[in-house]
Amino acid sequence: MKIDIVTAQPDIISEPLRQSIIRRASDKGVIDIRVHDLRQYATDRHKQVDDYPFGGGAGMVLKPEPIFSCIEKLQKDAEESGASVDEVIYLTPDGVTLNQKMANSLSMKKHLILLAGHYKGVDQRVRDRLITREISIGDYVLSGGELPALVLVDALVRLLPGAIGDAVSALSDSFQDELLDAPAYTRPAIYRDLEVPAVLRSGNHEAVSNWREAERLKKTMERRPDLLDG
Ligand code: SAM
Repeated sequence: MKIDIVTAQPDIISEPLRQSIIRRASDKGVIDIRVHDLRQYATDRHKQVDDYPFGGGAGMVLKPEPIFSCIEKLQKDAEESGASVDEVIYLTPDGVTLNQKMANSLSMKKHLILLAGHYKGVDQRVRDRLITREISIGDYVLSGGELPALVLVDALVRLLPGAIGDAVSALSDSFQDELLDAPAYTRPAIYRDLEVPAVLRSGNHEAVSNWREAERLKKTMERRPDLLDG
């Protein structure tokens, strides 16, 4: 899978991409992630990527020209290599809220472009003309789209075959079906006065599986009964 991230703040994104599962997936060739600095597409002397909003009011707006130049170049490069970009996604609080089902479906795509906004957001003409999907990571507002882009990348990468050691692990996580995940324990079996449930040490796979299912159901009923609706 290929992901291009377009941002005016590349430094916020670059270091986290060099860590842990995302780095290992990149090293293995499972994912090819590139970060594009909008300032390199600004045409004026000061490399300005934002400007005052028409109509007045607080907050700057990301200008359309650098974004159009960058995204159209990425689309053209893809076409020239015989492929095409599947989605151009703008991370924005007024988008559709990201969930596991959406992550599962996006993880099947071959090439995504992610656009991170800043300040007041991006010029509406970018959204009208270039963006194919708008995604929010929750009902709160961050200063920029860089962290939301990283959240989306992480949610996708861990689903790609070969990205994490045990592929089954991702499939048994919360939200892959209508249940939350079961509690997890590791050694030591007794820590202070806290003991790991005996069934997990019994070696009886069927009993372990039944216990986990029961715990998942119990936790979901307590915390997220909405997931069980219907
Ligand atoms: N004026 C925008 C609004 O009220 O909807 C908020 C702009 S926000 C301060 C700046 C940028 O951060 C946005 O363009 C977006 O890229 C990103 N952002 C902030 N919160 C986000 C969220 N919950 N989900 C996705 N992106 C978010």
